[in-house]
Amino acid sequence: MRRPLVAGNWKMNGTVTSVEALVTGLVSADSPSCELLVCPPSVFLAQVRAGLSVAGDEEKIGLGAQDVSQYESGAFTGENSADMLVEFGCRYVLIGHSERRQYHGESDDAVAAKVERCLAVGLRPIVCIGETLEQRRNGSVLTIIAQQLGALAQTVAREDWGRFDIAYEPVWAIGTGERATPEQAQEVHAMVRSTITDHGDSEDFTRILYGGSVNDDNAKALFEMADIDGALVGGASLNVQSFMSIAECAG
Ligand code: PEP
Repeated sequence: MRRPLVAGNWKMNGTVTSVEALVTGLVSADSPSCELLVCPPSVFLAQVRAGLSVAGDEEKIGLGAQDVSQYESGAFTGENSADMLVEFGCRYVLIGHSERRQYHGESDDAVAAKVERCLAVGLRPIVCIGETLEQRRNGSVLTIIAQQLGALAQTVAREDWGRFDIAYEPVWAIGTGERATPEQAQEVHAMVRSTITDHGDSEDFTRILYGGSVNDDNAKALFEMADIDGALVGGASLNVQSFMSIAECAG
């Protein structure tokens, strides 16, 4: 069965002091039964790892990165390799977040190459997909999602389709306070689920998270949907109480 996952994307936020306070708050909170993950900026990975391990909480709260290079090593200034992330204790990495696609021109093919690199070293990707407002308005949501997943289908082997998770994040709902209704999200999640079933052998291992302005008020209704297996949380993950309340709703 799929264990729900609630992941916090801290984006480019935090200072040494605020990160320490956030980690301290997270490790002292009661554990929910879902899996928890935090994805700090890469410069804070070592600090967060140390904070989680001092509390003996590496198992309770996993560590993830926000991006990874598609290359193994070499002259790629500013990038972090999948091996480096593993060495720094990451179990997960976000790939293809809409902010990477939008501001760094990340293509579906680059996303697929990054997924392959992570799978080669045992790092579990969370692949972000989602449509823009314009695409939703012109009725092409499912076409866009199929296109984004299609690039993965071309590179990822059938037996590896249970080795990553997916986050459906409508671009118009990220950081805007707007969110897809549970029914709108479920429609896309159901289509993603059937794509996973078509391409892989192990749909039971791939979780489909919803992301986009999730907070403690709207989380419960989202998690009640059959194919929503957790959340990727941006803004609300910077607040211990909000993040843990969302996690409580996930089970
Ligand atoms: C995100 O950055 O992945 C995200 C979902 O952000 P927010 O929750 O702030 O909309």
